[in-house]
Amino acid sequence: MNDGSVTVAERRATRQITLAHPTNPVVVGGGAPISVQSMTTTKTADVEGTLQQVYALAGAGADIVRCTCNDADAAAGLAHIVPRSPVPIVADVHNNHRMALAALEAGVHCLRLNPGNIKKADHIRLIAAEARDRGVPIRIGVNGGSLDERLYQRHGRRVTPEAMVESAQVELAYFEEVGFDQVKISVKASSVPLMIEAYRQLAEATDHPLHLGVTEAGPPPAGLVKATAGMAALLAEGIGDTIRYSLTADPVEEARAGRQLLEAMGLRERKGLDLIACPSCGRAEVDVIKVANDAQAALDGFQIPIQVAVMGCVVNGPGEARDADLGIAAGRKRGHLFVKGDVVAVVPEDEMVDALVHWANVIKEEGIAGALTHADAGAAAEAAADRASLLDEQGADANASEQRVELIRKNLG
Ligand code: SF4
Repeated sequence: MNDGSVTVAERRATRQITLAHPTNPVVVGGGAPISVQSMTTTKTADVEGTLQQVYALAGAGADIVRCTCNDADAAAGLAHIVPRSPVPIVADVHNNHRMALAALEAGVHCLRLNPGNIKKADHIRLIAAEARDRGVPIRIGVNGGSLDERLYQRHGRRVTPEAMVESAQVELAYFEEVGFDQVKISVKASSVPLMIEAYRQLAEATDHPLHLGVTEAGPPPAGLVKATAGMAALLAEGIGDTIRYSLTADPVEEARAGRQLLEAMGLRERKGLDLIACPSCGRAEVDVIKVANDAQAALDGFQIPIQVAVMGCVVNGPGEARDADLGIAAGRKRGHLFVKGDVVAVVPEDEMVDALVHWANVIKEEGIAGALTHADAGAAAEAAADRASLLDEQGADANASEQRVELIRKNLG
């Protein structure tokens, strides 16, 4: 368990920008907590449907939500959505610079522009000047798949990290001409090595805060793996101020994954459940996968930071998960409940998940020390007896590892 004394990396020093939501402003860069973003999949003109999704995303861990602003109806929708959103809203703009101006008029808290799509210098300067006057930041969102054709040609008809960084710098220069610097930048690609290298080069070239992502990562689990590989590698180098998973899935999954990645890396404080479970092996006394899934479902949405362990056997489980706030291990058709490694109850196997929920609530109400005062008298002794008898039956090598080693040695002569 991360006790906070180990950190993945010193974070890169960046400037700071603020998405000025009136009650829930989000600061990006300059040492602010790394924020999680996601994007709605509804038509932005559908105000109620979009707001429902915005709330669901915020509930799942999104600090910032992006909505497309692709036509006049979408811009009109934003004018209704922004004042009712619990989190800052970013308008995603492609091709038509007038949509960016309309989104600003709708009151959005940030714009995202793709330099590959809005190319006229006058249009870019106009948007930047308007954003400057309204105090609204812009993300320069370079995308490997829609790189400016001129840069693509100049870099040997290839999407290279250098070309992506140059695209961001060209856009930045237009912004600077009108004295606008409230900027964050992304250089996303669907290739993980390409995006990692592009962000590394960008981090060297600028001190603007960076928005990380692997674009078009695809459906889970492969999409999750790709996005995590790219973003985690950079975060471990201290690069990245805000992140988005781009999954072909319900965007709630994106928000959840973003939050989980940051919590797993110790970059955001855990808000809810962290379920750990052993991978199961020859010693397992129960279907660990089923119990872990049932526990995850029963405790999902638990509103305190709690680490819960589901372990397949009482022989090694309680020791291996001794740092968990709460855990359960199976043995002899019973579950041994433990709090910070101390056995507090022994329950029938079919009550394991209910018992976990009960003890999680006791911890929620009374804390760890309070929960330990409710330990069943005799539970520790019962658990020790179960463990001893299992060890007696199975021996210390239930996985037959030593027998296999012997066979391997014999076969190798
Ligand atoms: S020894 Fe026990 S706790 Fe460890 S993996 Fe096997 S069943 Fe799970």
